[in-house]
Amino acid sequence: MASIDPLTNSWLDEFPARIAQLDRAHLRRKRRVVVPQDGAYLQVDGQRLLAFCSNDYLGLARHPALVQAACDGARAFGVGSAASPLVSGHSAANEALEQALARFTGQARALYFYAGYATNAGIVPALVGKGDALFSDALNHACLIDGARLSGAQIHRYPHADLAALEQALISSPARRKLVISDAVFSMDGDVADVPALLALCERHDALLLLDDAHGFGVLGPQGRGCLAHFGLSGKNASPRVLYMATLGKAAGVAGAFVAGSEALVEWLMQKTRSYVFATAAPAMLATALQASLQLIEQDEWRRGHLQRLIARLRQGLFQGLQGSSWRLGDSPTAIQPLVIGSSDAALAVMDGLRARGIWVPAIRPPTVPEGTARLRIALSAAHTDADIDQLVQALTEMSQLHATHHT
Ligand SMILES: *Cc1c(COP(=O)(O)O)cnc(C)c1O
Repeated sequence: MASIDPLTNSWLDEFPARIAQLDRAHLRRKRRVVVPQDGAYLQVDGQRLLAFCSNDYLGLARHPALVQAACDGARAFGVGSAASPLVSGHSAANEALEQALARFTGQARALYFYAGYATNAGIVPALVGKGDALFSDALNHACLIDGARLSGAQIHRYPHADLAALEQALISSPARRKLVISDAVFSMDGDVADVPALLALCERHDALLLLDDAHGFGVLGPQGRGCLAHFGLSGKNASPRVLYMATLGKAAGVAGAFVAGSEALVEWLMQKTRSYVFATAAPAMLATALQASLQLIEQDEWRRGHLQRLIARLRQGLFQGLQGSSWRLGDSPTAIQPLVIGSSDAALAVMDGLRARGIWVPAIRPPTVPEGTARLRIALSAAHTDADIDQLVQALTEMSQLHATHHT
């Protein structure tokens, strides 16, 4: 039997030093305790901050109709589902939600999951495996990447949005089963994938296209029906070559995710996705809250209209305010507005400066984004007011001028 040599340390003793290493590399993340306030304000460690860091794009997360629907759901079904969906966890509320999601996105069928991470990490390995080929945009979300790794399929990573490179990779691959995976709206840049072009490539090379619309669902397309509707590729134009995935904890304001597509594809995923089969079903109270959310997403066109006006106001304000500055506002039409600062230290300094002015915008640094492109990820929401945007623009304008003076 192996015994522990008292002179050599166990690996269990290494964690404090490893954490210190994260500290030295400025890679240690802090977790803040937040309490939601009115509008887009959060109380953060006791300080009241105007927040530009949530993905609650339509301002629905605390809507009274959703809260009421969650309470009603809890009264009718309890708070827990108590079993996996294929045993006894698939409540009537979850079934109704799936039908509503399929109808809303113009797909034949939908499957409702408790989280987006688990959806992508699970469905990719259910679709492809050893001997198959995966084609993945370099800026895809971590859960698509993890699903790809878990699948054992050969992964071809193409440069962001480089469809010529994607086509070359598709041509060169001898695999019979090819799966292209892409964010529909890229989470750190806010740009929208060229879905029609992706789909055309998939048609030409007999590939399946999996789109992650975490940041487009509820926001893009008529009535917020998502990226496929935005490009006119849903309903009677839905392609059996597309699997549509979206999360329900962002614009929808609740939690969970779903995948939608043709009857056979969704049935296969229900049978074979390990993160679905071997996990407790999402609570029915979330499904009832999501039904209320879907109604508001569909009805409240003003939320998308207001959000679009805020996006335009921010972009115009920053174009004017940041003239002559080295800070660069990314070319994004969505609620995700990246302000690229450059070095990690500089981005952190801007974040701290904003915080001192009562504003919270998260700095996103390498390795989450490429080296030299550390940025502020400004996330807008229909919960913001014009005055909120003006306050942010004013603060950034003043700070960029200070920054410029320090560097000349
Ligand atoms: C947030 C996000 C996910 C994960 O969804 P959760 O429901 O939060 O687990 C997946 N994909 C993208 C692109 C995301 O931004």
